[in-house]
Amino acid sequence: MAFDLFDDQHEFVEQIRAQLRSGNRSILGVASPAFGKTVVAGHIIATAREKSDATAWFLVHRKNLLRQTSMSFWGAKIEHGLLTSGRARSTLPIQVGTIGTVHSRIDRLTPPKILFIDEAHLCRGSMFERVITWCKDSGSIIIGLTGTPQRLDGKALGHLFDVMVEARSTRWLIDEGRLSEYIIYSTGLEPDLSGVTRNGGDYNKEQLAEAMDRPTLVGDAISHWRRYANGMRTVVYCVNVAHSKHTAEAFNAAGIPAVHVDADTTEKELKEACEGLADGRYLVLCNCELVIEGFDLSSQVGRDITLECCILLRPTQSVARYLQMVFRALRRKPNPAVILDHAGCAMRHGLPDEQREWSLDGKTGKRRTQADDEADVRVQKCPSCYHVFRPGPTECPRCGEKVEAKKSREIQVQDGELQLIDQVMARRAARVEQGTSKTLRDLIALGVRRGMKNPAAWAVNIACARKGKKPTAADYQEANRLRAKM
Ligand SMILES: [Zn+2]
Repeated sequence: MAFDLFDDQHEFVEQIRAQLRSGNRSILGVASPAFGKTVVAGHIIATAREKSDATAWFLVHRKNLLRQTSMSFWGAKIEHGLLTSGRARSTLPIQVGTIGTVHSRIDRLTPPKILFIDEAHLCRGSMFERVITWCKDSGSIIIGLTGTPQRLDGKALGHLFDVMVEARSTRWLIDEGRLSEYIIYSTGLEPDLSGVTRNGGDYNKEQLAEAMDRPTLVGDAISHWRRYANGMRTVVYCVNVAHSKHTAEAFNAAGIPAVHVDADTTEKELKEACEGLADGRYLVLCNCELVIEGFDLSSQVGRDITLECCILLRPTQSVARYLQMVFRALRRKPNPAVILDHAGCAMRHGLPDEQREWSLDGKTGKRRTQADDEADVRVQKCPSCYHVFRPGPTECPRCGEKVEAKKSREIQVQDGELQLIDQVMARRAARVEQGTSKTLRDLIALGVRRGMKNPAAWAVNIACARKGKKPTAADYQEANRLRAKM
């Protein structure tokens, strides 16, 4: 088995190997969605099996992700069995399964040499801990993978993992074209959460539903969607099942075809909803917690079709939950994703691609503990179009409305702040410039303008990354041919 890894994926594998060499047995790998976790896991498994007859399991937390993961493994030509209820166990050395099934069969199974836990931030409760401890005790290597290394209740994962390694950032993946750019809008209609108490690290769900499940808020979501995301393939995150159903009804009543899914939705119904979304019978998929961690529309339908818009109607105190919702819309596609935040998440938690300091011992790092006071200076909202952006400009980057120039505290605490703001703005402008260079020729021209050493090769790398393919010799030849004519 050979895996064609991107350089940053190699880097990530090397970081994991270095930790294993230094004696750590349980490693939490942090990587953005669409980083290519399956390919990386496949590579690690394949290399391990070249040297020994190691067994490996890749466990997911929900059955509806099993089919999707299994398909990605087949896509990467990894032969495997399925560890799931209703399936006889195969003897293949590689298994893809659900944590629940392993837990229920624990007495009849032999722990694998390598255990991968997907969406490892969901590791809580006795089931996860029992499976992980059982494997650890028998000497397995544990590799957890997640985009947000913090449990949804804000608690840490340090008791399960020895060490954490991080892949390149979300921003880097966006710049490389492996994730899509995004535009985020908040709303003028702030939900009133004054009567909502906290419960288990997040808002009390019942009270939150009361505050959010209101026709005015849903109506506002529909009018914003019409204005900023009309016709886009959309996922809506609601507080609970009733809220999600009401929201779907409201979209349907407004003539926008919507479908609701929840935990009681059968595999077949979910598939139907996803197919409907893929072929345009539905434009809007409403849910509360089903279509979140790990969910990938294109894997569900087996075609390269992505979500284009994400509507947040679910306020959360958990930055992990916020990111998991937004990430669903950031799969690679030609145009920026539109995020409509009616839940105050961006103002509270910052922009999705903000550099975050994660740690295995929980909410540490200055930025995190001061998040509440700082949120309003990390991002700024245009009073006219509600676009949310990094502070710095004197005009809204979307509509041009004059705004009060605020300085981001993130930048302010450092020396030479104005210069830094300029740098931040320049980098932003550079990214926009790169994003609008659509053709290979445009990209080469941009590379030339930027004084790149080899603009043709750079352009090929960016163009191929956007399509998710590895550059070939023919690609470089084509670029050199174009470059020669310029
Ligand atoms: Zn604006």
